[in-house]
Amino acid sequence: MVHLFMDVEDPINPLADDAALDLARLFTEAGVRGNFCVTGEKCRTLVARRRTDVLDALAPHCLGLHTDTHSVHPTTMELLADVAFEEGARLAYLAEKRGFDAFAAAFGRPPAFWGGAGNTWSPEITDALGRLGIPAYVYALTELPDRCAHRFNGVLAFTQHLSVSEDDWADDDRAARRCAEVLHEVSRRRTDCLCVFVGHPTRFRHERFWDAPYAGGRTPARPEPAKSVEDRVYEHAKANLASFLRGIAQIGRPIGLDDVLRLPWRFESPDEASLAVFRDRTAANLQAVVHWPIHRPGLDPAGIVAKTLALSNTLQVARLDEKGAKGADPSR
Ligand SMILES: [Zn+2]
Repeated sequence: MVHLFMDVEDPINPLADDAALDLARLFTEAGVRGNFCVTGEKCRTLVARRRTDVLDALAPHCLGLHTDTHSVHPTTMELLADVAFEEGARLAYLAEKRGFDAFAAAFGRPPAFWGGAGNTWSPEITDALGRLGIPAYVYALTELPDRCAHRFNGVLAFTQHLSVSEDDWADDDRAARRCAEVLHEVSRRRTDCLCVFVGHPTRFRHERFWDAPYAGGRTPARPEPAKSVEDRVYEHAKANLASFLRGIAQIGRPIGLDDVLRLPWRFESPDEASLAVFRDRTAANLQAVVHWPIHRPGLDPAGIVAKTLALSNTLQVARLDEKGAKGADPSR
């Protein structure tokens, strides 16, 4: 089983709205149900700009909440780095509840899952997700051997396995090479829950990420808009994505995470070796993401690492039995 993810999060550049519309329609036309992570701020922006066409294009797909404001400070890690878990849980709930409400107002349904913004996370998020009734998170920085699905503090977690970047999509040769690699992996690992990130609509359309003005902890009053790429480049990127979607639809139809969450999961306690990998990999992931260019300088991950590892006793390995996995995959 394979799940394709895209992030819809740029509230600044109006062309990003059109890109989200175009790319959501590409998925629909290819018969591929994607997983789109949408920020609360993007939901408010689309509603304010009356872009019901964009909301309608996203609606057939599995939709998740991509935090309330993504790169606007404080990010998740900046908000929660220096507080005790209980206070962090209160703050995380308040932040994500704003996103949840904007999402529900825009789409008329709750998010099916939650996806961390950029490279930022803290374990209090799982407490907030439980209270909001969101059953899963993706782009998990909690990690087990083979990046397998797991349950952490009561919430199902999916780690990203593969990605194709916007620079790959924009270059025909690079796209062909990278897509061949991904398609090979997908056909090789048919029984796994394989999570593949395929980009941000806004970066298909612009030369840089929308949030560059927020780098290094800055909050500009009027963030600089991004320069758009030439139409020719955008058209190539779209054509390359469309051909990838047709290819992946042939070897094993990608499905929405919401359909997978409905399957019968089995949960097992991790063995000692898996627990050791969890501690090492998760701590390393959290220590690495403080260097996300958006974060303020001097952000210390030690408290977040400690709060996360203190919840190791809640960790469970999540497995689908063969029958459940087959039932979800129409290609098998
Ligand atoms: Zn994002």
